[in-house]
Amino acid sequence: MNESAGRARHGSCKSLLYPSHSLGDPDFVTIYIQPSREEVTKRLPPESVPADPSKWSQASQRSVSAEWTTEYTSYRYTCWRCRVSAVFTAADQQYTYEVKKAPIDQKRVLCESCWVRSNAISVELTECERMWVTSKPLLRIDRRFLERWMRLLVEAEEYSAYKADIARKNMLSKLLRELLARPSAGAAPCRDADSDRGTG
Ligand SMILES: [Zn+2]
Repeated sequence: MNESAGRARHGSCKSLLYPSHSLGDPDFVTIYIQPSREEVTKRLPPESVPADPSKWSQASQRSVSAEWTTEYTSYRYTCWRCRVSAVFTAADQQYTYEVKKAPIDQKRVLCESCWVRSNAISVELTECERMWVTSKPLLRIDRRFLERWMRLLVEAEEYSAYKADIARKNMLSKLLRELLARPSAGAAPCRDADSDRGTG
């Protein structure tokens, strides 16, 4: 089967590469989005590298893409968050699918700086969850921790088509309201998480 036929079979339901903000999947989650016409047609001049589907993840090897993919070709896309134009290079695709074993039907949608910041948020959110599990009695009255966690959840929404964890946000809002209603609530809000926002 030739490549264009393969692309057509991929069809209208491409999944996109997003860093996960959940604990379930450390690297990727899949969402389904219609690729824009611009994204499909704005292919770059032929920069390609050979593909070896035998190095893909087990699930990817069972996909139809494994039958027809013989090379990766660089393509341009618009960052989902900041709208800058970015390129998913052929070499990077090879690394993503053959080394990192990302699902072959996923595409990159964030530019590099947004991607880096998004991953950093994911790491911090995972750490918040871990701390919460181990030190809940202390942290539920730690305004600094609760505010930082809330800020991260809000910021995460900028980078993903997913809504952030509503249950977590509601829980944090409630705890912060309760904390602020206490007579002793006077601690200054923490500002440390603001200082590294500029990198995204
Ligand atoms: Zn971006």
